[in-house]
This record gives sequence, structure tokens and C-alpha cells, in this order.
Amino acid sequence: MKKVFIIGGGASGLTAAIKASKNGNDVTIFEKNNKLGKKILITGNGKCNYWNENQDLSNYHSSGDYTKIVNQMNLVKAHTFLDSIGLVPYIKNGYYYPSSQQAISVVNALVDEVKNNGVKIINEEVTDVKKKDNKFIINNNYESDVLIIATGGMAASKTGSDGFGYKIAQQFNHNIIKPLPALVGLKTEENLKDLSGVRFIGEIKLLINNEEVESELGEIQINEYGFSGIPVMQISSKAIKALDENKNVFISINFLPNIASDILGLRSFIKVQSKHLNNKTITQILDQLFNYKLSNYFLDKSNIDPKSKVEDLTNDELDLLCHYILNNNYKITDDNGFENAQVTSGGIDLKEIDAETLESLKEKNLYFCGEILDVDGACGGYNLSFAWISGLLAGNIK
Ligand SMILES: Cc1cc2nc3c(=O)[nH]c(=O)nc-3n(C[C@H](O)[C@H](O)[C@H](O)COP(=O)(O)OP(=O)(O)OC[C@H]3O[C@@H](n4cnc5c(N)ncnc54)[C@H](O)[C@@H]3O)c2cc1C
Repeated sequence: MKKVFIIGGGASGLTAAIKASKNGNDVTIFEKNNKLGKKILITGNGKCNYWNENQDLSNYHSSGDYTKIVNQMNLVKAHTFLDSIGLVPYIKNGYYYPSSQQAISVVNALVDEVKNNGVKIINEEVTDVKKKDNKFIINNNYESDVLIIATGGMAASKTGSDGFGYKIAQQFNHNIIKPLPALVGLKTEENLKDLSGVRFIGEIKLLINNEEVESELGEIQINEYGFSGIPVMQISSKAIKALDENKNVFISINFLPNIASDILGLRSFIKVQSKHLNNKTITQILDQLFNYKLSNYFLDKSNIDPKSKVEDLTNDELDLLCHYILNNNYKITDDNGFENAQVTSGGIDLKEIDAETLESLKEKNLYFCGEILDVDGACGGYNLSFAWISGLLAGNIK
């Protein structure tokens, strides 16, 4: 039996604690919040999308080789673990939520299991970690054989993850891949204040140095600062890395993907609509397709009088309008910050971690799990999936 300390009582730390205690170790969690699992409560808009059936490796990103870690999912039986703590899923298109549709059910299942397995909880912020005579010493007061760092990254620091874990890792000579916000809105050079609050189903393409690198379809939201919504979040990680490398980052948006993909097609659609609708004004036709704020915006950008009839517009005028609707480019200037990000990309360099046990290759008996590692997942339950998988691996202390 080993004495195991875990810093962080979030998804990964709680999982590691359950595993380590079930293996017969004496386990203590240090959590600075007065409650465990605070971040889990705000996941999935309070519903907690905790797993995804499609565990294709392409849903995870890292600068290192994460495949060995994620591939152990079946070995550690991450999915069985979730069943074993009593989670009953409501499954929608392969996305798992608790049947109660409340994130608190996930927290309760984890916390009950932690307590049932005799894990001790110390509600104290860890500010100091030392190693002396093969023992880890926390806050000059507590001593353990094994230390698991599960302090999260830097996203949503109001839930406790403020990057402290990186400092401990650096103290033990670990390299940190630059942490950047991921799954977050993107700021545009163009001021979109007048469109703030508009939502639409659109296709977004990410262009880095003029090359299309990714595209996503879904509900996009326009905000004062730029764009958000799941498709934007999905491309945000690559966009932010490219910005950090001083590359030119643009997004191109098709505001009408269900109707047309090319200018010619949209122009003829508008003409057919105009005939069919007895020569209504261009505004009346566009208002059937978009939120009125968007109609005004497209007409204004293409210098078209809103009262014009389609038959009075030249093909060039219509084509310019169609261009703004189908493939206008927006220059991306920044992200919407760690505070508003769902996760952190970057973190502990995977090269310095044993991929099977998640033990540090720099310091014996030091382990890492969860978002602090240089692995981030797509929207769809992948970040929590990684927290469970990595928590089960790091907690497998024998
Ligand atoms: C708004 C939002 C929505 C999300 N929705 C989803 C979703 O639906 N599905 C999904 O898969 N992922 C989602 N995520 C991401 C997911 O929640 C995280 O990736 C995951 O919870 C990370 O778990 P973790 O244990 O690594 O870190 P965290 O959950 O951040 O836990 C770290 C813990 O360590 C504690 N800690 C830190 N420093 C110290 C210290 N010095 N001393 C003591 N304690 C310390 C913190 O207080 C915290 O409790 C969402 C994230 C956000 C912000």
C-alpha cells in the first residue's frame, strides 16, 4: 500500500483517486475549492456531455503522440468505469449525458465512489511541493510516496484551474507546450456589433495562410467580438495555434449551406424566388432566408438599395451579394480568452511521460492526468473522456 496524494478534485483527479484507492492505496485529494468537481457542473450547459461513442483518435489533438494513451481506453475500460460508478446515460447521436440531464448526477456518482473507497479530502490550496528522501512534501506539512497532478489547465479559472500544475511540473524539469485557449469563440477584425445575438446554420472554413485546413457545419452565433458556437469552437484550436505562430488566419462563412454552395446557384435561386413571389423586393426575399439583421448587413455590404427589385439588379450586383452570403472572409485577430474557453491546448509535453502509466520520465512516482497534459479534445464529450481515461491510467498505482 502506498500513500498517494492527488492535487485537484476535478474529473481526472477524482477518477485517479477511485482507481488508486480500489488498488488498495491510502489516497488523499487536495482540492482548493470547498466542493469537488466544480467544473463538471458547468459542462455541456449544465447537462454534462461526459462521453462519446465515436472514440476515433482524430477527435483528440496534441503536439505529441497521444495515440498510445487514448488507445488504452479499452484496456482501462473507461466506459465500464462510468457504468460502474452508477452513471445511467441518455444517448443522443452517440453523445452521452446523464439520464437526469443534470451534471450534478455525474459529480455525485464520482464523489460517492471516492468516499465509499475511503479517499480522504483536504480542502486546502497546494502552494508548495518538495521532494525529500523519496517523499513528496505538500505545503511543508503532508508527506506521500506518490504524487498525481490533476490540476487542470488554464481554461475557466473561476473553477480553480489557474495553471498552478505547470509550475510544479517545471520544478521537476518538465517541458510545457505553450498553453493556449481552445474550444472558444474567435474575434474578428470586422466589427459585428450590429449583428450581435444572431444565430444561423452555417458552414465555416478555416483558412491559414490562404489554405483551407478545416471546415465545420452547424449553428454559429455572432457576438460583438466575432463568432462563437460549436463549429467555431471546433476550429478554434488550430486557428489560435496559427495566430500564435503569426500566420494569417481567416474564416470564410457560407450563411446558406442548405441552399447553395456557389454564386451561380444562389443567384439563380434568388431569381427564381423573385419570379415566384411576384417581384418582391430583394429585402423581402432575403428576409425569408435570414434573420433581418443579416439581410440588412448583406445588402449594405454589397451597396444594394434594400427596396430594389431583383429584376432591376445586374448580375454583377447580385453576384457581389451572393459572395457576401456564401464566402465572405473574416480576418481573425484573437481568441475570446482563457476565461471563456472550455479547454486548454498544450500542457505537459507527452515526450516526458510514460504513455502507459502517465508517470513522469523525469521524476519517479510523479504522475499527471487530465487537461494538464498536452492533449485536448473536440466538442462532444472528448475532454471528459480524456479525463476518465488518463485518470484511470495515472491512478493505477500498485
Ligand atoms: C464551460 C465548459 C463546458 C465544458 N463542457 C464539456 C462537455 O460537455 N464535455 C466534455 O467532455 N468536456 C467539457 N468541458 C471540458 C472539461 O470540463 C475539462 O476538460 C475537464 O473537466 C478537465 O478535468 P481535469 O480534472 O483535468 O481539470 P479540472 O476539472 O479543471 O480540475 C482541476 C481541479 O484542480 C484544482 N486545483 C487546481 N490547482 C490547485 C491547487 N493549487 N491546490 C488544490 N487544488 C487545485 C481545481 O480547483 C480543480 O478542481 C467543458 C469545460 C468548460 C469550461
